Amino acid sequence: MKRKKFLLNEKDIPQAWYNVISDMKHKPSPLIHPSTKQPLEVEDLSPLFSKAASEQELNTTERWIEIPDEVRDMYRIWRPTPLVRAEGLEKFLDTPAHIYFKNESVSPVGSHKLNSAIAQAYYCKKEGVTNITTETGAGQWGAALSLAAKHFGLELAVYMVKISYNQKPYRRSIMQTYGAEVISSPSMSTKAGRKIITDNPTYQGSLGTAISEAVELAMSTPNCKYVLGSVLNHVALHQTVIGLEAEKQMEMAGEYPDVVIACFGGGSNFSGIAFPFLRHKLNGERPETRFVAAEPASCPKLTRGVFQYDFGDEAGYTPLIPMYTLGHNFCPANIHAGGLRYHGGGAIISQLKRDDYIEAVDIQQLDTFKAATLFARCEGIIPAPESSHAIAAAIDEALKCKVTGEKKTILFNLSGHGLIDMTAYDRYFANDLTNYEVTPEDIAKTTKDLEKIL
Ligand SMILES: *Cc1c(COP(=O)(O)O)cnc(C)c1O
Repeated sequence: MKRKKFLLNEKDIPQAWYNVISDMKHKPSPLIHPSTKQPLEVEDLSPLFSKAASEQELNTTERWIEIPDEVRDMYRIWRPTPLVRAEGLEKFLDTPAHIYFKNESVSPVGSHKLNSAIAQAYYCKKEGVTNITTETGAGQWGAALSLAAKHFGLELAVYMVKISYNQKPYRRSIMQTYGAEVISSPSMSTKAGRKIITDNPTYQGSLGTAISEAVELAMSTPNCKYVLGSVLNHVALHQTVIGLEAEKQMEMAGEYPDVVIACFGGGSNFSGIAFPFLRHKLNGERPETRFVAAEPASCPKLTRGVFQYDFGDEAGYTPLIPMYTLGHNFCPANIHAGGLRYHGGGAIISQLKRDDYIEAVDIQQLDTFKAATLFARCEGIIPAPESSHAIAAAIDEALKCKVTGEKKTILFNLSGHGLIDMTAYDRYFANDLTNYEVTPEDIAKTTKDLEKIL
């Protein structure tokens, strides 16, 4: 079989990121300061984040934001990434649909996360910051930021969700290889961590808790900033290099996607692949294109969450974000797609979902591993458990086409590879993995108090 792969040249690495908010008729409601309850200004954000990231976070008017040369130079290590037609998978499914995937797994750390890590580390360095902190779930974000921090000469402390710290020791080793300090969260090194351990000594951690710890350390350390790998607007912005490249590559393929799919944790890789295509829906040129976020059934914020102001973290240190959320105290089951275990959806995505520009589906853990195994056997790449949610959703779409006979063009983002997640695959093959059901009562418990927050 002749593989169709669409490659760009270095000069095609985008010169600017795309800021989707500039094109939204209904802008997301403002981020709210947790104590004053007033809309956030750049000055409120910049003690915590770099000034450049703070400005980007609140920029609702500029459509294109220039990518600094130093960042593009780093992107050259692995960008542009390939766009591949998944002909092996199409053949196996016997579908009339055409399936394409953008392969972000080719980055040195194996995921899309490096696109924003480099940008954020660069801005910190440029502003004279010496230390940065962050949280990581499955370890992909921590790995990406460790590489970026080392490149720009910054010291990095990473709070890693305890369950992943123990389940994914190799990601910890990757961060240490790049020179970062890795701390299992909840830890005794912060007030937020100590409180959680005291209340619940066997707590396996969550992204929300790890964020609280990283924010606390950043706020109490001189010349230290906090860096976030998902959820926020500026992170989504940096990830748009994915979709901007994919747009050119789909043109080379002579097709335009009918459906764009990505897995959904806090929304960064979904935003990255979707927003550049979504701009043609927002301006009315391509009203029919569908955008599908694939989230885990065990953490269904877009499909079953409430639209409310909520904190980005467990302890309530972050700004209040208007978003679809399961509540900042929601503790998702210990699925292997650690990067998707986050309670909320981010302001832009949530507004787009509310206005019906995007859809969401929820996928059970066993279905993701079935899809992942099939994909590996057909296309040769072992996907990350997170990315497998997108693959499962793409397969569903392709199978629907088989029934209707429609020749749809499906594009999904392969956000990362799974070569460091083989423990999860082992457990799948040993029939040791289960699906998880979230009951309406579970969701009611952690969402009922949200109204009182604001
Ligand atoms: C972190 C991660 C995700 C989930 O995060 P988003 O911000 O929703 O993209 C998905 N896939 C991979 C490979 C990841 O590392």
